[in-house]
Amino acid sequence: MVSAADLVEFSPAFAATREVPPRRLAILGATGSIGGSCAQVIAAAPGKFSVVSVAGGRDGAALARRAIELGAEFAAIADPASYADLKAGLSGSNVVAAAGPEAICEAALREADLVVSAIVGAAGLEPTFAAVEAGRTVALANKETLVCAGAVVMETAARAGAFLLPMDSEHNALFQAIGSRDPDTISVMTITASGGPFREWSAERIAKATRAEALAHPNWVMGPKVTIDSASLMNKGLELIEAHFLFGVPPERLDVVVHPQSIVHGLIAFIDGSLIAGMASPDMRTPIAHCLAYPERIASGVRGPDLAALGRLTFERADLDRFPALGLAIDALKTGGGATTALNAANEVAVAAFLDGRIGFGDIVRLVERTVRSMQASDELRPPESVAQALAIHHAAGERTRRHLS
Ligand code: MG
Repeated sequence: MVSAADLVEFSPAFAATREVPPRRLAILGATGSIGGSCAQVIAAAPGKFSVVSVAGGRDGAALARRAIELGAEFAAIADPASYADLKAGLSGSNVVAAAGPEAICEAALREADLVVSAIVGAAGLEPTFAAVEAGRTVALANKETLVCAGAVVMETAARAGAFLLPMDSEHNALFQAIGSRDPDTISVMTITASGGPFREWSAERIAKATRAEALAHPNWVMGPKVTIDSASLMNKGLELIEAHFLFGVPPERLDVVVHPQSIVHGLIAFIDGSLIAGMASPDMRTPIAHCLAYPERIASGVRGPDLAALGRLTFERADLDRFPALGLAIDALKTGGGATTALNAANEVAVAAFLDGRIGFGDIVRLVERTVRSMQASDELRPPESVAQALAIHHAAGERTRRHLS
C-alpha cells in the first residue's frame, strides 16, 4: 500500500526541491582519451558529480592537471618514476599524491559511487577487479578486463553484488537496447565495426600499411592502441569477447557487421523477428554520460544523429580474409579457457612492436596466431580460475610473443 510519505517522496515538486548529493566518481585512466571525455561530461553537468580519485599511467604532469581540473582528493600514478612530476604539478593544491600499482588499487577503492575503469590494456585488470570484488558499480571502458579474465570477473561481480555498466560504445548501445528484456529472447546480438582506415584496401596493401596509415581512423578519435586494433579489426574481436561475458550470450549468437558511418553501434534481434538498434553520434561523451548518470540521463554536449542529413546508413559483412585478426579472436572466443587471455596479451605486445616500428602491420596477426597456437599445443591455456592465473597466462603469452619478435 502507498503511504502518504511515499506520495511526498514521489511528488515531482518535492523531487525538484530535494538536494541530490553529487555522485562520487573514481576515474582510472584519467589522462587517456576516455578520461578526457569524462572530464568534458563532468564539466557540462555542474553539481552532479564529485571526483574522489584519479589514476593515470605515466604522465605525472597531465595527471596533476586533470586532478586539479576535476577537484579530485587523491591522484595515483602507476609508474613510480613519474611521481616527482605528479607531486610538482600538485604543489599548492590539496590533492594527495601516490605512486605504484598499490596506489592505483587504492584509487579504485576510495569511497566512490561509481568507478570508471578506463586504463588501457591488461594494466587495468587488477584495479578493476579490486573494485568489482568490493561490490562497487563499475563503468567499464577497459575491454581487456573481460577479455583477459571474463569468467572470473563476472562470477566475482555476481558474488560481490558489483554492477557493471558498459561504457564501450557498442556494449553501451546493446545495454540500452536490451532494456529489461529477458536475455533468452535474444536471437542475435550484433556489434558494428566502422571498418577502419583499411576497409576497402586489398590484403596485400593492408599487410604493408604504415604506422601513420593505421593511426588515421576515419570516424573515432582514440588512443593509439585502440586505433591500431580498429584498423586490424582485432578491436571488434575483443569486443565480441567482451559482449559474450557481459551479456552471457554464447559465441554462435554474436555477430559483427561493418557499418562505415558509425551511427548504429549495436543491434539486438529478438526471437519474434524484432530488431532494435542502438544509435548515437560517434562521440564517446554519449556512452560516458549514460554510464555516469545511470539510470538518469544528463546532457552530454553531443547531439544525436540527424538521419535525414546523413541520408543513408550502409552495412556489409566483415571480410575475415582481409581482416584475419577478427577470425582469430572469434576462434579464441569459441575455444574459451585461456585462449582469449593469450590472444589479448600477444596482441598488446605485437601492437606495441608495430607502433615502435619493429614489425609490419601484417606481422601483428601472424605473431598473435603463432603465440596462441603454440601455447595451445603445450596445454598452457586452461581456463583461469583467478585473476592471478589469468595474469600468469597473460605474462607467459607476452613473453612468448616477445621471444617470437627477436
Ligand atoms: Mg568500441
